[in-house]
Amino acid sequence: MSDYAENITEKKPDRDLISIIVPCYNEEKALPAFYRAAADAVKDIRGADCEFIFVDDGSRDNTPEILEHFSAMDPRCRYLSFSRNFGKEAAMYAGLQNASGDYCVFMDADLQHPPELLKEMYRVLKTEDYDCCAGLREDRSGESPLRTFLSRSFYHIIGKACRLDMGDGKGDFRMMSRAMADSILELKEYNRYMKGIFSFVGFETKWIPFHNVERTAGETKWSLRSLFRYAMDGILSFSTAPSTAAGAAGMLLLFTALAAGIFFLLSGQGLSGIPLVICLILALNGVQMLFLSILGQYMSKEYMESKRRPIYIVKKKGGF
Ligand code: UDP
Ligand code: MG
Repeated sequence: MSDYAENITEKKPDRDLISIIVPCYNEEKALPAFYRAAADAVKDIRGADCEFIFVDDGSRDNTPEILEHFSAMDPRCRYLSFSRNFGKEAAMYAGLQNASGDYCVFMDADLQHPPELLKEMYRVLKTEDYDCCAGLREDRSGESPLRTFLSRSFYHIIGKACRLDMGDGKGDFRMMSRAMADSILELKEYNRYMKGIFSFVGFETKWIPFHNVERTAGETKWSLRSLFRYAMDGILSFSTAPSTAAGAAGMLLLFTALAAGIFFLLSGQGLSGIPLVICLILALNGVQMLFLSILGQYMSKEYMESKRRPIYIVKKKGGF
């Protein structure tokens, strides 16, 4: 049994249990350092024990063997292994479903989420009136300028389009109460965009700033292509803005047709021949886009309904 393993197999009644959920995809190089650092950090937390829920997201390296080894030597370590790569969002969902802690925290396996913050996060949830305490990444040092630019632009657009609080730097590294964890589990939609889900379920969140560090070992799993897909997923899962934008473009075309018509009339060219064709093309395209957008609005209503999200989420009850 490891130096770090205390004999914790069941939750003790007088102590809290913190579930540390770690999605892992090809993390054989990073996992040993992660485990050492995280196990060291939780030693310092008074009043709570922890369990690790590692989720192997269909890794093709030795990640499953390493996780098996962790769970054999430390009873606090549990793991699930997916049959193939389902993505980080699926891994986080599976981890949360299998976590039994009073508090749950998501952490990346590459030590980009500093384990030293766990103690402060637990203190905040225990002593202040918050259901969630999250890391706020203050900078993007060590990242390519192109990726920084694209990410910043994306968070700017999605913030405006979805009217949800999903700013740059507000990632998945967060500890939450059981109430918040349960409400996240109630959202059973297939296309899961966790940052949107955190924001959707509400609850007061305290942000603790931290500096970006380069991953401890191994490589990032995100290519520009997968980031673009992720960005589109985020926008389409939480917003009907693209369909509204099509409507706005349709209106713009209609106004342009009107303005062009007035211009041709006032300039004495009259509305026949080529000027008429120009105005008709603009107007007809405008009408088409407007109707497509209306259709899109009906479809997106149906799409949002199909997610069967809870209509409300209760934080506390009294006097029932
Ligand atoms: N991850 C995962 N499934 C995937 C991609 C990533 O479980 O399909 C995990 C990965 O192992 C890591 C975390 O998600 O623990 C964050 O991934 P990464 O460090 O590659 O992302 P970045 O920090 O570059 O955004
Ligand atoms: Mg990383």
